[in-house]
Amino acid sequence: MKNLRLFDLFDAAYLRLTAWYVAIIMIISMLFSFWVYTLAQHELRSSLEDQNSELAELQREGVTLPDLVAEYIRIDTEKRLSESRQRLISQIVLFNIGVLVAGAAASYALARRTMRPIEEAVEAQERFTADASHELRTPLAAMKSEIEVGLRDKSLSKSDTVELLKSNLEEVEHMGNLAEGLLTLTQDTVLDIKPVDLDEIVAKIAKRLKPLADAKNIEIKRELKPAKVQADEAALEKIAGILLDNAVKYSGQKTVVTVKTYQKDGRGVLEVQDQGVGIKATELPHIFDRFYRADTSRTKQHVNGHGLGLSIAKKLADQLDAKLEATSTPNKGSVFTFVVRYAER
Ligand code: ADP
Repeated sequence: MKNLRLFDLFDAAYLRLTAWYVAIIMIISMLFSFWVYTLAQHELRSSLEDQNSELAELQREGVTLPDLVAEYIRIDTEKRLSESRQRLISQIVLFNIGVLVAGAAASYALARRTMRPIEEAVEAQERFTADASHELRTPLAAMKSEIEVGLRDKSLSKSDTVELLKSNLEEVEHMGNLAEGLLTLTQDTVLDIKPVDLDEIVAKIAKRLKPLADAKNIEIKRELKPAKVQADEAALEKIAGILLDNAVKYSGQKTVVTVKTYQKDGRGVLEVQDQGVGIKATELPHIFDRFYRADTSRTKQHVNGHGLGLSIAKKLADQLDAKLEATSTPNKGSVFTFVVRYAER
């Protein structure tokens, strides 16, 4: 549903912009009409003067006109002059009405077109803020209710208190991750692009995530061929970290996560393949959207996350002018492929 305040705001802006466009069009049209009117008047007057001078010439040559005929010519000329002036004025008025109507319609369409990207950006911002507050509200509500229950329980033992604090700490960490993710998404960091070894970075990240994989008996299989790429080291670490973390998070016990790096067609490639839950074809196009989480991860599996990881990875990939894509088969697994410029020698 569209935000009502936003709707009013943009409607007022459309109208204001339309009014400005119409005002400019009408000023130009009226100046043009005035110019046409003056020009036409001038032409009429000079043709009349020509006619008079021809009559004067005839009189000088001795041709005399009866008074009645001369008077008739004078009245007729004036009548024709006034009629053509009337015609001209009504045509100019009609023309300006036409310009006003067509100009207003075109201006409104143009105003909408001009404002569309701004409106979309503001809407996205509002959606983002709403989603972020929603994500914050859930852990806060969980913490609040746990603390309240703990405070009401007179027989709360020391171990219960420790449990409560541990659970609260988890929520705090959860919120900390969210804050960090939000900051990464909204801040535009300057990347330090230089030749780096993608395979070495991935090896480092795989090592870092090993304990997480071990806890689920997941093997991280490395097939790392040398790939020197043109990129920012920290951004690559972040992307590899997100992809590997997800592969482990969304895989079951005793599965294999294969991570590959290689060069292809003048590019460096990172491939992360898992045998996890997979992603439905209908959900696949949305996984890179901010706060998007597939139904299964939200409801069935209760995997921790905010739906920000892949949007951060995508943002960084865009900044690196790299491609990040996913293919997946539900209940079989997913493959995430990141392709980045290969370093020139
Ligand atoms: P998060 O993992 O915090 O939910 P992400 O942005 O990293 O957020 O991922 C968005 C969604 O994409 C996840 O919630 C999950 O549904 C889906 N997803 C990402 N990676 C995988 C994967 N390797 N296997 C299955 N689903 C995945």
